[in-house]
Amino acid sequence: MATPLTLPHDHQERLTLIRQTFPDATGPDLADHWRGGRLAALSTLATVDGIAYGRSRNFLDGAVTRLSPYLRHGCITLNEAIKAVKLKHGTRAEKLLFEFAWRDYWRQVWTMQGDTIRSDMESPKVAVGRAPIPADVLAGETGLPCMDAFISDLVNDGYVHNHARMWFAAYLLHWRKVDWRAAADWYEAQLLDGDIASNSLSWQWVASTFGAKPYYFNKENLEKYSAGRYCQDCTAQCPFDASYEALNQRLFGPSHAPARQYAVKALPGMSAPAGSKTTVLVHDEMLSPLHPLLAEAEHAVFIFDPALHGHWALHRLQFMADCLSEMEQVSVWVGDTRAVLSALDIGGIVTQASPNRDLQRLLAKFAVHWVAEEPIAEVQLRASDLKRFSRYWQKVGPQLLGDSHYRKP
Ligand SMILES: Cc1cc2nc3c(=O)[nH]c(=O)nc-3n(C[C@H](O)[C@H](O)[C@H](O)COP(=O)(O)OP(=O)(O)OC[C@H]3O[C@@H](n4cnc5c(N)ncnc54)[C@H](O)[C@@H]3O)c2cc1C
Repeated sequence: MATPLTLPHDHQERLTLIRQTFPDATGPDLADHWRGGRLAALSTLATVDGIAYGRSRNFLDGAVTRLSPYLRHGCITLNEAIKAVKLKHGTRAEKLLFEFAWRDYWRQVWTMQGDTIRSDMESPKVAVGRAPIPADVLAGETGLPCMDAFISDLVNDGYVHNHARMWFAAYLLHWRKVDWRAAADWYEAQLLDGDIASNSLSWQWVASTFGAKPYYFNKENLEKYSAGRYCQDCTAQCPFDASYEALNQRLFGPSHAPARQYAVKALPGMSAPAGSKTTVLVHDEMLSPLHPLLAEAEHAVFIFDPALHGHWALHRLQFMADCLSEMEQVSVWVGDTRAVLSALDIGGIVTQASPNRDLQRLLAKFAVHWVAEEPIAEVQLRASDLKRFSRYWQKVGPQLLGDSHYRKP
């Protein structure tokens, strides 16, 4: 049954309401240092140091931005972030602009390939595991202080540093032989920035099903970029303490897994709204009160739908409630998207285009006008340009950085 939800102005009261509304959502409340919404996004953006970022982003205590939850939910757009960083630092913030482009790249692949990104994009280059996630990993009790800390960051905070994501993904896939799809589903549900494209394709990049080789690491690498914080008191038998050559032999041996092929699914048709009345359907990638579609909206609705959000951890739902509390023109509902929209007198629907096929399927029986986001570069990207980031960057990089600053990755 569909129910409207009135979000309290007070943050603590909102946390409580969301906890009560979604009793099955797992994990702790949103940590105190996180606030969803555009205001929090703008103040985070104001603190970004694009120059320090370039020097230190690989270190756990480096000057990373923590913008991803805001970008993921559209509190600020990628273009806004790019413009702000360029205004502040120009192309001296090249490394950060380059990383922003990674987000766009994964999204372009998702748009073109659809649900297939949830399956092997290519044959794995090494034997990959197909095991479920082991209980000790789910409990955060692997006995390895580094991995247990990364699991705690994930489950308790919903944010994990990029390098820690890479180490953890490599540990799970190559040392523990877990199926990357099971790992990616679990990860996406816990992260505040959980994103089908960035997440699935990053796991595939580590697995080697979307890249030329698997990603793995050794103790020396982890110790250096974590400043020894996990290794100094560690008494565990370290599985990472070896040369890359020795680990390569130990983890992968000579065998190759067979190729797996999946069909590409077609996009549903996109049509203009019928009749004069329109409702803006606000979905989970457009949570900004300044979203252009809201400027002249007669009605705007957001729906917490179990089909889209039922697997997300509590702190993620609370983060979204923070965002929605700033969007006073939007009525918030809980229930099945089709049931809510059918019960309301909505007329046509207008919404931001999304590669999310689950959302597209939910809206298939309605007249929907999908409005594309402003691209970060005016380039035509073909499937062959999206085969590897380096090819995409050859087209997008010169526009983002200017020809004189563009360098091949
Ligand atoms: C296994 C794995 C899973 C991941 N899952 C997600 C996910 O669900 N959602 C998500 O947004 N990112 C994901 N990433 C990418 C990256 O780790 C995060 O975007 C980044 O750590 C977010 O923190 P930040 O905002 O402080 O990043 P910063 O390092 O400050 O980067 C600034 C912004 O650039 C973009 N960015 C940076 N690195 C990457 C990258 N490698 N891929 C894509 N975008 C990037 C993000 O939008 C990020 O907010 C994943 C990476 C790995 C290895």
